[in-house]
Amino acid sequence: DSVYGVDKWGMGLVSVLPNGDIGLKNPLIPDAVVTSLPDIIRNLGERGIQAPLLVRVGSFLEQSIIGINQSFAEAIERSDYKGVYRGVFPIKVNQQAQVVQRIVEFGRPYSHGLEAGSKPELAVALAHHLAKDAMIICNGVKDADFIRLAILSLKLGFNTVIVLESPKELETVLQVVKETGQEPLLGVRVKLTNQISGNWAKSSGDRSTFGMHTDQLVSVIDKLKDHGLLHCLKLQHSHLGSQIPDVNDVRRAVGEASRYFVELTREGVPLTHLDLGGGLGIDYTGEKAANENSINYTMDEYCANVVETVCHVMNEAGIDHPTLVTESGRAVVGSSAMLIFNVLETTLYDAQTSPEPDAEDHHLVSDLARIPEYLSLDRLQESLNDASFYRDELRALFRRGYIGLREMARAERIYLHVMAKIKKVAPAIGVDPVIDEQLEKLVDIYHCNFSLFQSLPDTWAIDQLHPVAPLQRLNELPDRRAVLSDITCDSDGKIDKFILANGVSPSLPIHSLDDETPYYVGVFFIGAYQETLGDLHNLFGDTNIATIELRKNGGFDLLHEQEGDTVGEVLSYVEYDPRDCIDAFRQMVDRTTSEADLTASDRKQLISAYRAIISGPTYYA
Ligand code: PLP
Repeated sequence: DSVYGVDKWGMGLVSVLPNGDIGLKNPLIPDAVVTSLPDIIRNLGERGIQAPLLVRVGSFLEQSIIGINQSFAEAIERSDYKGVYRGVFPIKVNQQAQVVQRIVEFGRPYSHGLEAGSKPELAVALAHHLAKDAMIICNGVKDADFIRLAILSLKLGFNTVIVLESPKELETVLQVVKETGQEPLLGVRVKLTNQISGNWAKSSGDRSTFGMHTDQLVSVIDKLKDHGLLHCLKLQHSHLGSQIPDVNDVRRAVGEASRYFVELTREGVPLTHLDLGGGLGIDYTGEKAANENSINYTMDEYCANVVETVCHVMNEAGIDHPTLVTESGRAVVGSSAMLIFNVLETTLYDAQTSPEPDAEDHHLVSDLARIPEYLSLDRLQESLNDASFYRDELRALFRRGYIGLREMARAERIYLHVMAKIKKVAPAIGVDPVIDEQLEKLVDIYHCNFSLFQSLPDTWAIDQLHPVAPLQRLNELPDRRAVLSDITCDSDGKIDKFILANGVSPSLPIHSLDDETPYYVGVFFIGAYQETLGDLHNLFGDTNIATIELRKNGGFDLLHEQEGDTVGEVLSYVEYDPRDCIDAFRQMVDRTTSEADLTASDRKQLISAYRAIISGPTYYA
């Protein structure tokens, strides 16, 4: 694999097998056999679970939970830190029951808890059997109902912390405390001034939406004191934003958070927990660089920096080491899911054969056809200029009615043939950026069976890169380059930025397809945020989902299957009752039958075609 850089970004989970298949390896079994992903997809297909398909791998998730807990434990040991680590998983990063349940299960030995940012997420958190000393951290804007349930849950033995986002929220807490007669477990969110770089820079710094300034903190402390509740304030929280690219931003922010901790402690607040929020990133590109899609640190380095920084500030101030909490979501769940889709058809921007110009064709058509006679590496730019000039002129003649459809079709085909010859002569990609840029306009479009808006919303919204690679034939040099378009009717519905071995590229090297063999493409490490943020653009619903486990000796077990949305289901999400739709269609058929000459079998055929759509999948089947 010298093209896709799988070894660079694969995290040891994804690799290329000698037969050219993408392979997956169970990271929890050191000598596990690598299993072919195309084999898994074929096998799932035989069981009726077709692409487009979201594949979740249990051990990829388990490995991340173990990883973060072990990394913190090791850093704590190395730094002689006296506190412990208690992670919480932010439900918003992936709320799917199958995922949260597994996180709770895998996290139990480490007392890994959950973070809830809304009432539904609190309801999810409280429906789980967490370890005795695991925490539930409640962030976000909270009304009295939210706060009441959080406080009452303490009676059941949950360690539910209400993180105060504002002085006003404290008012509601005080009311509920009065009403229930139960003391709360409280946290306070501080607004750090350090600003991070990357996609989520706005989540940090002075203008970030959440958290309290120093004067607000002081008023909260005073008010709690007044009500005799200061002893309930145990946790300090801050969050800088997701996917922090630069570890030095982490260091600076943790330093600042620790200083707040010291000052609050000096104010008499009996803090025991320092919660540093999320932000631990994923190296999507494998570059190990501080940019939007990469990070310049490992999980071990992140943990070591957090522990050492807190340790240093606390030691200097002579304050007991707090329990460390992080709310890592992306790093825990991101690597565990991949989207697999099939290519449906291709629009090629070159042609291997071309017709001869007709004798009556405009002379520009023959001019175009003659370009290969002088095409050479030296005259490449000239040939490109000529080809686009002749074609543009011919298009102008067509628009004005001087040439007809068949002549234009011949010209277009000849142009594509010239392009095929130009691509053959052109230097390899990367040698001449000017030529590269022109040839990029001629890359193919591979039309694929997925919706960017449903399955990869961050690709659309914030240009987030996820590794993309064909699942098969990686031992064959790809002979084409393409962008991948989805099946929504939206020109934004395409992937046109790819992580390759030698950097980021606006097209994906890909193979010529034959009509018989299915060709699958995978988008990797999409477990964080994508499922949740995806939408119903064009009414494409959830894809099929398979949760699998990789066996030691190759092969896999299907742990859970979730069928994708049917058309009827997505209609109900947008306020249609599918039965009413069928009824309305049936009445229309019956009206037409009585007015026009529809036979009984026409009626049957029409209604069953409509029903088949309603009960079928939203994707190309
Ligand atoms: N905690 C809070 C308060 C958040 O807003 C977020 C997301 O931005 C997270 C945790 C999760 O962050 P990440 O996925 O970067 O770990």
